[in-house]
Amino acid sequence: MVYYDAHCHYYNLNKTYMNFFIAAVSIDYPTSLKTLKFKSKNVLKGVGMHPWYIDEKSLKKVISLIEKADFIGEVGIDFKYSNVSRVKQIKYFLNLLKNQRKRKTLNVHAYAA
Ligand SMILES: [Zn+2]
Repeated sequence: MVYYDAHCHYYNLNKTYMNFFIAAVSIDYPTSLKTLKFKSKNVLKGVGMHPWYIDEKSLKKVISLIEKADFIGEVGIDFKYSNVSRVKQIKYFLNLLKNQRKRKTLNVHAYAA
């Protein structure tokens, strides 16, 4: 049997899961770099900036990694738990989307309550 994990913070794990097909998300620049180094055929690599960890200095660096990734994620909006202002979250989310050359799948964190 094969299992699918559509949202896994795989950079925290130091183990290979042979029976899993994994969408490995990242939350910032360092985790995006780490995720891109995975060689396993059953791991799709995502680069992103989580709405809890928005950082102006890292935005361009994360954007520069998008072309090497299989998808963009984790990105999104969180009006409940993030300490970042709503305006800034929306601005960064839109920036990540418009700065990709090819349209890639998004893995979105969304909490707007
Ligand atoms: Zn997540």
